[in-house]
Amino acid sequence: MILHALKNWLFPKECLQCTSLLDSEEGFLCKGCAVHLELLEERVSSSHIACFDREGPGVSFLRALKSSQSQELMQICLSFMVIQLERMQRDPLDYITSIQDPMSYFLAKEMQKKLGMSCVHKKESIADKAVIIVGLEDPSHRQWEIKKSELFWGFPKRIDCISFLN
Ligand SMILES: [Zn+2]
Repeated sequence: MILHALKNWLFPKECLQCTSLLDSEEGFLCKGCAVHLELLEERVSSSHIACFDREGPGVSFLRALKSSQSQELMQICLSFMVIQLERMQRDPLDYITSIQDPMSYFLAKEMQKKLGMSCVHKKESIADKAVIIVGLEDPSHRQWEIKKSELFWGFPKRIDCISFLN
């Protein structure tokens, strides 16, 4: 307890959105900003799920995650993405993969573990399978094409994508 107080005194944490100092119960956003961090209620499109809008605290969160590469923020990001996937994904998935980006790759691997799915390591057929691509920001088709040529062959039944920001 004393150590925690000392740590906060020595290294005060700031809200990722408005930079006001956080009190001990606040995690990464102050209470005022945290109320604006709300998961999107609908899919961006029929094939795209996103956690947050491209404005507000979600943007500040992603900026802080990218610049700090903090494990703590990464785990929070992962939790949001798993929750949103479970809320929005209608049909069972066969594969989770990611775009060509180390952080997206990490997220996809962790999501596979959390959802009890096996990892894809080698050239595998995705013919007639349902695939979801994970990306922090833009699960663009170009990056997916590169990834696909390395890992998969065949025409999938469905390709969806999930991103942290829409
Ligand atoms: Zn704030």
